Amino acid sequence: MFSYRHAFHAGNHADVLKHLVLIATLRHLQLKEPSITLIDTHAGAGLYRLDGEFADKGGEAVDGVMKLFAACRPASGAPAVETTPLIDDYLDMVAGFNPSGALRVYPGSPFVVQRLMRAESRDRLKLFELHPTDGKTLSANIGQLDAGRTVVVKREDGFEGLKPLLPPPADAQGSRRALVLVDPSYEIKSDYGRVSACIQDALQRFATGTYVVWYPVIPRTEAHDLPRKLRGHAQRAGRSWLHATLAIGHPPLELDERPGLTASGVFVINPPHTLAAGLKAALPVLVDVLGRGRGQGQAVEASAS
Ligand code: SAM
Repeated sequence: MFSYRHAFHAGNHADVLKHLVLIATLRHLQLKEPSITLIDTHAGAGLYRLDGEFADKGGEAVDGVMKLFAACRPASGAPAVETTPLIDDYLDMVAGFNPSGALRVYPGSPFVVQRLMRAESRDRLKLFELHPTDGKTLSANIGQLDAGRTVVVKREDGFEGLKPLLPPPADAQGSRRALVLVDPSYEIKSDYGRVSACIQDALQRFATGTYVVWYPVIPRTEAHDLPRKLRGHAQRAGRSWLHATLAIGHPPLELDERPGLTASGVFVINPPHTLAAGLKAALPVLVDVLGRGRGQGQAVEASAS
């Protein structure tokens, strides 16, 4: 069950899409002062070395964040493309973990979110990671921060762990706010059904929370059905939604060659009203830079409200 290690994939095109959406969503929620409960049901190890043994000279990041950096922020010469505010914000975040300029470290979702937390608003972060090694690494990485009790790591099942956290506690003004990232590895087929059930349950517990779900776009019925099911949950709960996909496609392949993951999607329930426009500007640039050929493309679809 535990063959998946995010370190092999850190900084790939799927992380670029997911973390760009995560940053834009959280930034928008933080325009309002009240505290936010931040929950990452599948947190991973937190920090990844792009020059480490898993990444093998950048690994999948070569076709993801590294390519994007080289195009938008070349060490010398003019950028190859014009960026957009969401891409700039994402690249600033990654650059913040690489002060020497060379891309050596990639921040996973726990560190992306932790860096944006506001002490004055008393934001809180709850992280779940079930893999024994990655769970320990995550605890150690978070332990290096002076985060005190503002960040809690649980080596537990994130689907189950989410339930008692919703609805989130009210602040002094009675305001309850939460941003939940649901980002499993889908290494087992049942993850698709669990994601759907988890979001349905979460909307019953706390309909006004913002939920960000990542999923792989692969030729598998469950993967194809997931965004449709999530849209159904959002619509039945009377909530707005947004669905974005990014496909980098693949170059011509040898007969026995497999392209790996070429596309993924993010489904957001109760998205910021600015997110669709931001992604409609950003995703064509990402395709322009990261696209590798056959099957490349992007789409952004959102509910009317
Ligand atoms: N969210 C991370 C990020 O963006 O940096 C990446 C997470 S990775 C795609 C999925 C992680 O979920 C893996 O580290 C895996 O070990 C973990 N995992 C798998 N099943 C889990 C479960 N039921 N509860 C919590 N973590 C789980």
